[in-house]
Amino acid sequence: MKEILLAHGGGGDEMNELINKLFFKSFSNPILEKMEDAATIELKSPIAFTTDSFTVNPLFFNGGDIGKLAVVGTVNDLVMAGAKPRYLTCGFMIEEGFLFSDLQKIVKSMQDEMEKIGVKVVAGDTKVVPKGSVDGVFINSSGVGEIVQKNISSHNIKAGHVLIVSNEVGNHGACILAKREDLDVETSIKSDCALLWEPVKALYEAGIAPIALRDATRGGLSAVLNEWAVASNIGIKAYEEKIPVADEVRGICEIFGFEPYEFANEGTMVLALKEEDASKALEVLKGFEVTKRASLFGVAVKEYEGRVILETPWGSQRFLESPKGELLPRIC
Ligand code: MG
Repeated sequence: MKEILLAHGGGGDEMNELINKLFFKSFSNPILEKMEDAATIELKSPIAFTTDSFTVNPLFFNGGDIGKLAVVGTVNDLVMAGAKPRYLTCGFMIEEGFLFSDLQKIVKSMQDEMEKIGVKVVAGDTKVVPKGSVDGVFINSSGVGEIVQKNISSHNIKAGHVLIVSNEVGNHGACILAKREDLDVETSIKSDCALLWEPVKALYEAGIAPIALRDATRGGLSAVLNEWAVASNIGIKAYEEKIPVADEVRGICEIFGFEPYEFANEGTMVLALKEEDASKALEVLKGFEVTKRASLFGVAVKEYEGRVILETPWGSQRFLESPKGELLPRIC
């Protein structure tokens, strides 16, 4: 099998061959193997339930690919809701003529990510569409998880709560942009694409109850902070020098006139915490590779309700606006 043919999505022998040679090889588990019309799963309620579609261009980038992104994106949304991720579904929309070897790589990287935290694909779907109907492959993924930490919400932030960002911001967006524009820095900018379950679980185990959690995906840090300021009817004061940004990302932003705070991240979260939890939380986060650059960068304030104030290293202030329009289509 060299290329994916329309027949591979046809529901007949060719499709069974694709399922057996590819998807079952990587995703196999007793629930999936039953091959019923729907998976039967048992969960302790309440549950978190999420869905996302992935259309990233290019499909392969420094630090990941569309498969890893689908697992990470879906899992992280469950984690941000206070859930332990359990089961995923995945639907593949594949363009006729797509290379089987590329599909293998994508499926393998999904498997690698899922194995890290023990989540499983329990239902899937494959469609093959005529050449030109999609660009390579698109993936839709839904996920369910069991809520292990209640009351995490963007509506609960109060003046005095502090804000931590778990990593440098803008790496995923800058990495995709550099690859598309074929820039020399492409090799040095790596997407932050990573699962956040382990560090968040460690926070719970350390007795920390986050007020709010959000992965700063599309719209980046700016979108999260502006959404939180509105949802909780507070002002947010952020100190620019405390927000970690890689030099290469800063450089790319200067070339293209972007703000690193508006670039998408795929393994970077923002946490709102009680002030007394902040130092312990930083200590926990710094113990994990994916969150070792965590930094306390801001605080919720009574003034400027619904707005985000960015204070520069020179003490001047400006509003950090919510991103407008579409900076970079097909980022995730
Ligand atoms: Mg999210």
